[in-house]
Amino acid sequence: MAYVSTRGRSPARGFSEILLAGLAPDGGLYLPERYPQLAAAELRRWRRLSYAELAFEVMRKFADDIPEADLHQLVTRTYTPEIYCNARPGDDTREITPLRWLEPGLALLELSNGPTLAFKDMAMQLLGNLFEYALAKSGEELNILGATSGDTGSSAEYAMRGKRGIRVFMLSPLGKMSRFQTAQMFSLADPNIFNVAVRGVFDDCQDMVKAVSNDHAFKARYKIGTVNSINWARVAAQVVYYFKGYFAATNDDAQQVSFSVPSGNFGNICAGHIARMMGLPIRRLILATNENNVLDEFFRSGIYRPRSTDETRQTSSPSMDISKASNFERFVFDLVGRDGARVSSLWAQLEQPRAGAAIDLSGSAEFAGMARFGFVSAANDHAGRLATIRDVWQRYGVMVDTHTADGIAVGLRQREPGVPLVCLETALPAKFDESIVEALGREPERPAGFAGLERLPQRFVEMAADAQAIKDYIAGNT
Ligand SMILES: *Cc1c(COP(=O)(O)O)cnc(C)c1O
Repeated sequence: MAYVSTRGRSPARGFSEILLAGLAPDGGLYLPERYPQLAAAELRRWRRLSYAELAFEVMRKFADDIPEADLHQLVTRTYTPEIYCNARPGDDTREITPLRWLEPGLALLELSNGPTLAFKDMAMQLLGNLFEYALAKSGEELNILGATSGDTGSSAEYAMRGKRGIRVFMLSPLGKMSRFQTAQMFSLADPNIFNVAVRGVFDDCQDMVKAVSNDHAFKARYKIGTVNSINWARVAAQVVYYFKGYFAATNDDAQQVSFSVPSGNFGNICAGHIARMMGLPIRRLILATNENNVLDEFFRSGIYRPRSTDETRQTSSPSMDISKASNFERFVFDLVGRDGARVSSLWAQLEQPRAGAAIDLSGSAEFAGMARFGFVSAANDHAGRLATIRDVWQRYGVMVDTHTADGIAVGLRQREPGVPLVCLETALPAKFDESIVEALGREPERPAGFAGLERLPQRFVEMAADAQAIKDYIAGNT
């Protein structure tokens, strides 16, 4: 399978060639030249597969330049109950992504039972194994440099810990993450994991990463790479659970299902879009945002206006606090009929150095034809989030976290009779205990392996918000 850039000016590449890459050379994002199309018989056969076997079938369509026996081994080693079934000790289904019915026609797809209790583990664990495999083949090393304010950093560290040929340098704003998230990252003792607490805010961390990436000589010399959400393999791995969730919610392939997705960088729901383009009978993709509603605004109005840092609000669903949605360009490429030149000129408008730069498709034929992609959207706020957490707890005895609550609240507004609604659970409540206490007046249950997490010894270095400091640190530790 050949991968092309959304901006249309980079040569096509194979899966293994883009596995370790970020942006395409022309600044765009990689996508398959054509989405694989599922025959009815194949869909029928997939219904009976375990998660690992299903993941193999999906990934072999996208990663067709990895020998099948190797890919099978990588995938089955990743999707095991040992990695994905620790979070809910009472739950002995041994399913990797159990579907829990709240009431007839309304279900929660559990994606957060992995090592860091958030859905990012679903793809990141596979990425860790794919990276290790690719580096062993080429005999190269990789130094992953990232900035995090929570879920991405811990998920990346748990996926890369102990991996040969890989080091992780993860910057986070000193004292600004939750105690749980800080402890999760800083308690890792693996020698290939380097936690750097920066005296500054998240944007300072991100600026340091950008400065290093823009120093091409340093980047090449120290083999600097990333694992951010634009990575294609992450998106591809997320396609799998849309299939699994669909099969779990239906009895036959004539039925349709709608998915509700708590969204930030558009990575999760982009995978849903791809599953739908492959022929999975998804009726609606319901995009939920929090107060940072840049995506909701686009799907309602056709105007995409990234926010400035000042306009980006800190909310109680912090992993959705985004100013721009880094995967959104992938969808726009499909929306404009895969016209790379058009995407290029649209994004050139955003790169103009003026306040309020936006892409305006409101009057366009493309936006008028939007319905065929099945997207609907809405935004939620703090009060709505707490009310949903209370409501789900009182009605169904199920505790959900703040992000999942945004998805449920928005999903219920878009629910249609006769169409099962599957809400994606993107984190466990144990990660966001303050909001749970605010909503329910009680602490969330904490999975057994996480008791006393905050009391473990912590390993990190403190650093000024200075790009040279992180370069020196990387140079001194490789
Ligand atoms: C990352 C994250 C999201 C947003 O997912 P995107 O792929 O960025 O849209 C939602 N909820 C949680 C808990 C997350 O960690």
